[in-house]
Amino acid sequence: MVGSIYKLLHPLYDGLQTIVFDLRCKGCGEMLYSHEEAICMNCERLMSQTTTCQPGAQENVAEQRLSRLTHVESAFCAFNYGSERFNEGNITRTIVIEFKYGGNKKLAYLMGLKLGRLMLKTGYYNDCFAIVPVPVSRQRLSVRGYNQAEELAKGASEILDIPVRSDIIKRISNAASQTSRTHAERLTALKGGFELMVGANDLKGKSIILMDDVLTTGATLASCNEALSHIEDCKVNIATLAIAHI
Ligand SMILES: [Zn+2]
Repeated sequence: MVGSIYKLLHPLYDGLQTIVFDLRCKGCGEMLYSHEEAICMNCERLMSQTTTCQPGAQENVAEQRLSRLTHVESAFCAFNYGSERFNEGNITRTIVIEFKYGGNKKLAYLMGLKLGRLMLKTGYYNDCFAIVPVPVSRQRLSVRGYNQAEELAKGASEILDIPVRSDIIKRISNAASQTSRTHAERLTALKGGFELMVGANDLKGKSIILMDDVLTTGATLASCNEALSHIEDCKVNIATLAIAHI
């Protein structure tokens, strides 16, 4: 009897938990007001926006970092990711960890909307043909259930009115968790880790946006760019939600 009541009520309890969880700020856990989405105004203010990681900025740190590895048309990183050493940006880090490892797919989409709005403000992406999310390995996809970069891309796509194309590149090497590797190990592991899925003429002469959650060393994005470089005259613009201090 108790067992059957439990069976009956358990899904309801789970549902309620999801609703209550959705009503709480993912940064600080406080209840959200109706006009707030995923994070409260306070936490949104604490998400420190980058000032120089925008296309056309004089000292674009993201472009400088990537230029050591590959050639891209531009780079945009919306927020500072923060780190143990640099406390600033910790809310962004909490949010990324939540949608990357906490199973919160919707949060990635909502952050994609924010990223899209900031990208729209620059007026730089009007001629872009597609948003290409950095693919995750099949193994990672089966554990996580979704690709967080693709969810970000879906949010940004809605704001920018540029379609998401997840069929352009795929990940071919199943590199172990990147977090435990050194810079040099990451570069070696990811070299040639992505493969072009379309013909070299399919996107000839087009501008695309390559999107990921966080720019760290730039090795993953550089490796994706290497696959995309087989397309003739394709201009690749990088966009990420955050940039990590390294
Ligand atoms: Zn909050």
